[in-house]
Amino acid sequence: MTDKVNFGDELVSPEEKTRRVGAVFSSVARRYDIMNDLMSGGMHRLWKDRFVNRVKPRAGEEILDMAGGTGDVAFRMAKRGARVTVSDINADMLAVGERRAQRKGFTGLTWKVENAESLSFADARFDAYTIVFGIRNVTDIPAALREAFRILKRGGRFYCMEFSSSDWPGFSNLYDAWASNVIPRIGKSVAGDEESYRYLVESIRRFPHPEAFKHMVTEAGFVRAAAEPMLGGLVTIHSGWKI
Ligand code: SAM
Repeated sequence: MTDKVNFGDELVSPEEKTRRVGAVFSSVARRYDIMNDLMSGGMHRLWKDRFVNRVKPRAGEEILDMAGGTGDVAFRMAKRGARVTVSDINADMLAVGERRAQRKGFTGLTWKVENAESLSFADARFDAYTIVFGIRNVTDIPAALREAFRILKRGGRFYCMEFSSSDWPGFSNLYDAWASNVIPRIGKSVAGDEESYRYLVESIRRFPHPEAFKHMVTEAGFVRAAAEPMLGGLVTIHSGWKI
């Protein structure tokens, strides 16, 4: 029998999780960008700026932005001259991203539907792999990390940003109250979809602690794995190198 996995707080089969995550992002795709601003009070823009500063994209570098959704991180890296491939399992999210790219005048990006767990790219193809607020939605995270390692060149770098449970006691309670009560309500009134936003909150709460995730990054073969907490540990930037 196949082991069950969490879809938010519910236990489901791995296939069912992938299907339901797909439904969540198809449902939120159109309102995704405005919801990000509302849910984070605009903070996600600062986190993404900080993240890209850590990645340090260079002109001409090949970067895979995995689970790239509507392109927020990819646009920031393309601005610095990197050649970015935006991949996501969800064609609806990528379609919103491509329309945004046209409006913003970004022409050099490649958009490709891919499952992070089994990529179609050749070994050692990219200089860097980025994944932002994406990996907690992936059903088989170790498989995605192994694929990230495979498609990177030697000297290639892995960067992941994800929510984490804060270690600051007062802050963590305040955040939990905000996330569990307010975010699904905003989801209901703005995007007409309370359930999807409830899943997003539950998936954040269930994501491994930064130290546990750092261990998973090392297990995939990366060296010098690091976890940099931001904003009292609410968000963490993880990194690692392929040598
Ligand atoms: N990186 C973007 C950002 O920060 O704005 C989008 C993040 S969004 C919260 C999560 C994305 O992960 C969704 O677009 C979803 O389709 C994608 N995703 C979920 N499971 C995936 C998988 N197995 N492979 C690739 N992408 C996946």
